[in-house]
Amino acid sequence: MLVLVDMDSVLADFEAAFEEKCRLTHPDFEFIVHEERTTFYLADSYPPEFRTMIVDIYKQPTFFHDMPVIPGGVEAIRQMADLGWQVFVCTHPFYINEHNFAGKYYWAETHIGKGWGERVIFASDKTMIRGDILIDDKPEISGVNQPEWEHIIFDRTYNRHVTGKRRLTWSNWREVLAP
Ligand SMILES: [Mg+2]
Repeated sequence: MLVLVDMDSVLADFEAAFEEKCRLTHPDFEFIVHEERTTFYLADSYPPEFRTMIVDIYKQPTFFHDMPVIPGGVEAIRQMADLGWQVFVCTHPFYINEHNFAGKYYWAETHIGKGWGERVIFASDKTMIRGDILIDDKPEISGVNQPEWEHIIFDRTYNRHVTGKRRLTWSNWREVLAP
């Protein structure tokens, strides 16, 4: 089995990274309640007047290096690798922050393990990448190709409107992906 796993908000906690950085510079900023988030893009969950401030935080050089882990994700992909599955991290680059390339490489090497940086595929169009499954929190993924992979939704409040796709968390991945 060839497994592609998204990084942001699946393995790495992008939202927590934003909140940690934001607290340092804007201690009074009120964060949305995670369970009430309905938009895929975090910045869209806040009123437009905050967009510049939010984007400035995204642009910080260590934003991606410092993302906390989402519990269970790293263990799950290590276990998938132990099952003999080919696992790659497939992540859309964050073009407004050129440091994201180094940050995501560093993140994989540091949190998943030595050598995993080489398993990070940066893809502005994930339909260009072959695989059996793609685990991703984005509700719909499209591109120039008809994807070869099955999109398996990583369960988040903002993608619950999606039906007709398998859906998993890091607690139930073995049951969901069982043959
Ligand atoms: Mg994601």
